[in-house]
Amino acid sequence: MDDSHYSRDDLIGKLYGVSSREDAHLARCEPCRRAWEELAATRRALIELEAGAEPGAARLARQREAVLRRIEKGRGLSWLPVPVLSAAAVLTLAIVLSPTAPLPSGGTTGLVVPDAQLFAEIYEVASSVEPPATASLRGLFEEQQP
Ligand SMILES: [Zn+2]
Repeated sequence: MDDSHYSRDDLIGKLYGVSSREDAHLARCEPCRRAWEELAATRRALIELEAGAEPGAARLARQREAVLRRIEKGRGLSWLPVPVLSAAAVLTLAIVLSPTAPLPSGGTTGLVVPDAQLFAEIYEVASSVEPPATASLRGLFEEQQP
């Protein structure tokens, strides 16, 4: 029966379950038992560290909440409801495109845009304004080129 102290290789072999040594020496020898416990604790810590690298559901939820809070805080005109902003955009365009205003092209045919199409375009612009806080987030989701 081998009663010498465990070498580093013996301990690593035991850690991975490939050691041929019996554990009787570890039960009797304080230095070897301490070395074994330190090595096992290090391995457990590494496994936990690796598991912590994967974002859990709770962590993702907290992250999402923080992002949404920042977006809400970053909206400069958030106190104005969307219909008010849309009405302001329609009014501005109506003034710019009114028949008395000079046409940008200088032609006499004018811009004939059906009201429904104009409203649809204005609504699209007014509703698709990206909050400033999302600009920095966009970089996170773009694919990195190798
Ligand atoms: Zn020993």
